[in-house]
Amino acid sequence: MKKFALALIAVVSIAATAVAQEYVPNVVAQAPDKAWSVEGLGEGVYLFRWRLGFYVSPFVLGDGEVLAVDPIGREAAKGYKDAIAAVTDAPVTKIVYSHDHRDHIVGADVLAPNAEIYAHPGTLSSLERRGDPDILKPTKLVDDGDVIDVGGREVGVHYFGPNHGASNIALTYTTAMGTMLQYVDTMEIGIVPYRTLPDTNVGGYIASLEGAAKLDVQWVLGGHSGPGPAVWITNYLNYFRDMEAALRTAEADLQKAPSPSVEDTIARGEIRIDAIVARAVDILRPKYGTWRGFEAWAPLNAQTVRMYMITGN
Ligand SMILES: [Zn+2]
Repeated sequence: MKKFALALIAVVSIAATAVAQEYVPNVVAQAPDKAWSVEGLGEGVYLFRWRLGFYVSPFVLGDGEVLAVDPIGREAAKGYKDAIAAVTDAPVTKIVYSHDHRDHIVGADVLAPNAEIYAHPGTLSSLERRGDPDILKPTKLVDDGDVIDVGGREVGVHYFGPNHGASNIALTYTTAMGTMLQYVDTMEIGIVPYRTLPDTNVGGYIASLEGAAKLDVQWVLGGHSGPGPAVWITNYLNYFRDMEAALRTAEADLQKAPSPSVEDTIARGEIRIDAIVARAVDILRPKYGTWRGFEAWAPLNAQTVRMYMITGN
């Protein structure tokens, strides 16, 4: 009987291993000072990992040309250029901006000054409004359903509305591991969303993740992390849904508690919201406490989601 139980455990653990995907990096090039590395995903898709700055940007090598995503910054773009040159002599003819945030799209002039630059119309209008002198303007606008050809290979463009920013596009790549979806900053694998969710439309975020969850993909990549298994789309969606539910539960719980004995209504409100946020984070900790940044950022995330629940935006 004992022997049977042991055999059963062995079968169950093998099955669990087969289901859980784990990314094993295939490093094909590295800077002498280890500032960057390149990983090959097959089917002409590579990852440029900027190790100095905790960023990752894919590039796709087609017949005679390269498409690169997000130059990141001037120093990173120099490394990105060297990294691509370590893999191919083909020129970078296409650059895609994932969204309009400065910390991802400075440096296209360093990476490939003559490349066409693809972005969502929202990125172009933001850049026109802001007038950032150090960011090359998009030359080709792309939207949901578009496909960018890279010398016979295809990069799919998806747009699910505003989320982490208003102009984030999700990109799909065909790799030897299966289809990989990249959603820069909107999904970061194993990491809690950044701080107070700057520039974020919370309701749109949930809707965008619902849209992304309908795509048939096997892997996901952010702009700072991954690839990880596609279940991370659902993990992120659940995080936001659970956050909303936790804030509701915390508010209901604290309504039963005596009101703080502070005269000033603003001060009293602040004590109350801090208590709601702290309670909500406690509710989320058992499920999400192992995600990187949870203790620092989940309380900040909760403050923003609470404001979304108050304003509706
Ligand atoms: Zn961003």
